[in-house]
Amino acid sequence: MEYDLLIIGGGVAGLTLAQTLQDRLKVLLVEESSLGGVASSLGCKATDECLSCGVCHFVDLKREIVFRKFNVLTDRKITSFAKSGNKFQIKTEKGEEITSQLLTVATGAAPLEVKNLSRLGGGKLPRVYSGWDVEKGLNEGIISSFRDFSSLAFIQCAGSRNFKEKRGYCSQVCCRYALRIAENLKFSFPQMNIDFYYMDLQILGKKKEKLWEIADKINLIRHLPYEVKEEEGRLSLLFEEQGVERKKYDALILSVGMVPSPGTQQTGKRLGLNFDSGGFIKSYGQGHTSCEGVFVCGTACGPKDIETAREEAQIVAEEIWRVRRG
Ligand SMILES: Cc1cc2nc3c(=O)[nH]c(=O)nc-3n(C[C@H](O)[C@H](O)[C@H](O)COP(=O)(O)OP(=O)(O)OC[C@H]3O[C@@H](n4cnc5c(N)ncnc54)[C@H](O)[C@@H]3O)c2cc1C
Ligand code: SF4
Ligand code: SF4
Repeated sequence: MEYDLLIIGGGVAGLTLAQTLQDRLKVLLVEESSLGGVASSLGCKATDECLSCGVCHFVDLKREIVFRKFNVLTDRKITSFAKSGNKFQIKTEKGEEITSQLLTVATGAAPLEVKNLSRLGGGKLPRVYSGWDVEKGLNEGIISSFRDFSSLAFIQCAGSRNFKEKRGYCSQVCCRYALRIAENLKFSFPQMNIDFYYMDLQILGKKKEKLWEIADKINLIRHLPYEVKEEEGRLSLLFEEQGVERKKYDALILSVGMVPSPGTQQTGKRLGLNFDSGGFIKSYGQGHTSCEGVFVCGTACGPKDIETAREEAQIVAEEIWRVRRG
């Protein structure tokens, strides 16, 4: 099987790239599980109005995929990469041998597992949820299971902006998804007290007015708690103000952010690519990596939302087209 472009990863970025180039190049997309990536687990956050969460961009993309003109191999693990002359030779675990002029890594990011945040009660204390658990649960009505809580706290930057843990970057999406989840909770349970602990709010730009409206309905507290304990059946948050402050809640939602996916780490290493300080594949502009002929896009090269991943993939597609034409 010989192609102009092999795309590794069938999330929003890989699919957008394939969609943009399908009429111009011979494209193959290899996905290790099923198409859609992280976006396929995100729920709609509309209350009585759309909250512009961006998930509709993915739904539109999925609709187009039904009529796709590019080739796809799903449930395929790549077992080896080699370069012969200016072509890449790839083998899959099912024995397919693929030759391609160019490669794009679109292997994405993953939410940090909440058990890694044990200082904040993650994986250790009851009723400590990750933003990811709630995101995934929106389609299954998780919000209704919060009806018995009278007070709840969001803790931002729980999994990011931590240089000690080599996650000094901002995950870009968590301030916005947390505010939208807060709006869903306030909509269903107006009497619930919601405190929102943050460092700074990444809600400038797109749809900012709506997000500031949501922010007005909850209590913004510009502190990040350093510890969570269970005391008398409630969750006690400890933070510094004038001395140690303690506030008690029924439940917590930790914004876990994004980390490079195992596929991104492994594929980057196998291809000998450079990584940035957060462990994402380093992009040198327009998707170029440290290896000639290998491009990167989407959250494989850093956190971003669906709309930005789509826009970036379209830019990378035009650069690939320019390079391929010589
Ligand atoms: C908790 C959380 C909440 C979010 N909420 C929002 C939101 O409300 N709105 C919004 O716009 N964005 C949100 N995002 C961001 C959004 O999920 C991403 O922008 C989007 O999924 C990026 O798509 P991608 O294709 O780059 O990566 P991914 O979605 O991660 O897709 C990568 C794909 O590559 C595949 N893959 C990995 N390794 C290999 C391999 N070795 N071989 C083959 N295939 C491989 C994976 O199976 C996956 O299908 C959120 C992200 C998180 C973590
Ligand atoms: S953008 Fe988000 S909130 Fe609005 S309708 Fe689409 S999925 Fe729902
Ligand atoms: S998006 Fe918000 S919560 Fe997430 S890392 Fe950035 S500042 Fe922190």
